[in-house]
Amino acid sequence: MSESQETLSNLLQETRRFPPPAELAESANVTAEAYERAAADRLGFWAEQADRLTWTKRWDDVLDWSNPPFAKWFVGGELNIAYNCVDRHVENGHGDRVAYHWEGEPGDARTLTYADLQKEVAKASNALLELGVRKGDRVAIYMPMIPELPISMLACARIGATHSVVFGGFSADALRTRIDDAAAKLVITADGGYRRGKPSALKPTVDEAVQSTPSVEKVLVVRRTGEPVAEHERDVWWHDVVERQNDTHTAEPHDSEHPLYILYTSGTTGKPKGILHTTGGYLTQVAYTHHAVFDLKPETDVYWCSADIGWVTGHSYIVYGPLANGATSVMYEGTPDTPHRGRWWEIIQKYKVSIFYTAPTAIRTFMKWGDDIPAQYDLSSLRVIGSVGEPINPEAYVWYREHIGASRCPVVDTWWQTETGAIMISPLPGVTAGKPGAAMRPLPGIAADVVDDQARPVPNGGGGFLTLQEPWPSMLRTIWGDDERYVKTYWSRFEGLYFAGDGAKKDEDGDIWLLGRVDDVMLVSGHNISTTEVESALVSHPKVAEAAVVGATDPVTGQAIVAFVIPRGSAGEDVEGEDFLKELRNHVAHTLGPIAKPRQIMIVPELPKTRSGKIMRRLLRDVAENRSVGDVTTLADSTVMNLISEKLPSAKSED
Ligand code: ATP
Ligand code: MG
Repeated sequence: MSESQETLSNLLQETRRFPPPAELAESANVTAEAYERAAADRLGFWAEQADRLTWTKRWDDVLDWSNPPFAKWFVGGELNIAYNCVDRHVENGHGDRVAYHWEGEPGDARTLTYADLQKEVAKASNALLELGVRKGDRVAIYMPMIPELPISMLACARIGATHSVVFGGFSADALRTRIDDAAAKLVITADGGYRRGKPSALKPTVDEAVQSTPSVEKVLVVRRTGEPVAEHERDVWWHDVVERQNDTHTAEPHDSEHPLYILYTSGTTGKPKGILHTTGGYLTQVAYTHHAVFDLKPETDVYWCSADIGWVTGHSYIVYGPLANGATSVMYEGTPDTPHRGRWWEIIQKYKVSIFYTAPTAIRTFMKWGDDIPAQYDLSSLRVIGSVGEPINPEAYVWYREHIGASRCPVVDTWWQTETGAIMISPLPGVTAGKPGAAMRPLPGIAADVVDDQARPVPNGGGGFLTLQEPWPSMLRTIWGDDERYVKTYWSRFEGLYFAGDGAKKDEDGDIWLLGRVDDVMLVSGHNISTTEVESALVSHPKVAEAAVVGATDPVTGQAIVAFVIPRGSAGEDVEGEDFLKELRNHVAHTLGPIAKPRQIMIVPELPKTRSGKIMRRLLRDVAENRSVGDVTTLADSTVMNLISEKLPSAKSED
């Protein structure tokens, strides 16, 4: 990184504070004392959290960091993840508790108690064994959001097969490269799932992918939609093979460092990386963070994370974290606007969801659709609401708090990555006085800091690179099959520190604000300006729902700020006029200072996003600099770039 990126400007000032509700603070799972206790004895603290799990053999050492950056946690310990997520709750008398309230997009529903889940996982485990899958083998999973997806993951974990879940929206080619990279022996899929009111086929994509994947021996297919599928010799139906299995299976223990899963990152910055997570440390941290950050009370809460299990958020906070804690969760198959734009709020009302976890991209979409939609539903069961995936703009936070959380629920903005495996920086809902837009502090047991380009912590009020300073239990162990890339990608920018790729600042109180990816930072007249702050300033205009900004080469200022803006539904007709663009530019200048005033603003109907909903700014940079658009293979909707390019002729600069 060039020297000019050694610090990042801190432009946005935010004075709103939301203290925790008294009732929540009084009964909180985790209180302020945990920070000090963890800081005094970090490894002792994590050992205590590992004791939330059931181990068949206790570990000898909490951490082996003798060969950095290759960590081993709970060395010598043994446990079974599926036993911890399912069987032990049944043994403890909670077999009748609902594990999943599953809601299909067409309106069909299924309830799985922990006792049901135990039987289903046992049958699936026996079926995997019959199909020749053994401990250490890899299994690719390409499925819609149906109960057989977590069941398959748990069955793999139970027998010690390493799963690689590939998001159901990926192409045959993307699936094939992921199957090949892991040399998967089995693929588990479905005929299809329901999306946007219709069956959406998956099996044809698998058929195409496995034409040239020599490692694949069998394809196990769940019937979900009943649409006709081509049948090949390698195919076996779930209802033929799994249903007839014995519904008991004895879980064998696995080493704490046994590979649990491989998962590819979202691909916002480029080629996805196959991140490897292991067993004991991973489950320890996902269980602890789910308990701490969401204040989960398993007897009374109904928890819903709206992510897709194809992403890490779904792995950690739909499957492993909630189940390890014995939670009751909602799982939903479809899209938020099928059959109507109130579907999610209807689900919250129906199941009396008390904890809700979603992404800024969804929140901004709901802002765009209008306040009147959630207002039609009873959301009074909610008590904690969370956000993950991108920086949450202060205005989106405040909208979420007000229109979904009834100005009562704390918002937890959780920063983490596929690589970190679990939440790292977040408010604690019973402790933290939240600031809209801030991820606040590293969780107890986590050491993170914002540093300058010499790895020196920046003072309060300063911005720079977000680094992790100590190993953590759910950290990635490597990039699958590529230790060298692991070292180079994450551990070589700063000696001894993990560098996450994100920019951040510490405010006057030392609280952390994420500022977007350092690759996206704009250098304007010698100032490093973060995309996040300018986007947040735009979103704070009452007529703006969503914004993305990039730096484009400029003869005068080095780089100039170019903004792409989606207006709110309520914004009215004249959002394309020159007056409105001028108003927006002045609004940014007024909010952040003249240095941050965009040179150019384009009103667009959509923004380019990854399949996990993150804005891909590098493609917008290509547009802003009149280049042909770069690699779009991880883009969710390839037509979006055409829609934006069509806007270009009108994209002249003002002033
Ligand atoms: P790739 O690494 O392939 O480019 P990706 O980084 O988008 O893909 P993920 O691991 O899904 O893949 O996303 C992690 C990133 O998401 C973080 O590095 C950060 O940029 C962003 N992020 C996640 N949560 C937050 C948050 N609460 N605030 C700000 N940014 C967040
Ligand atoms: Mg990343």
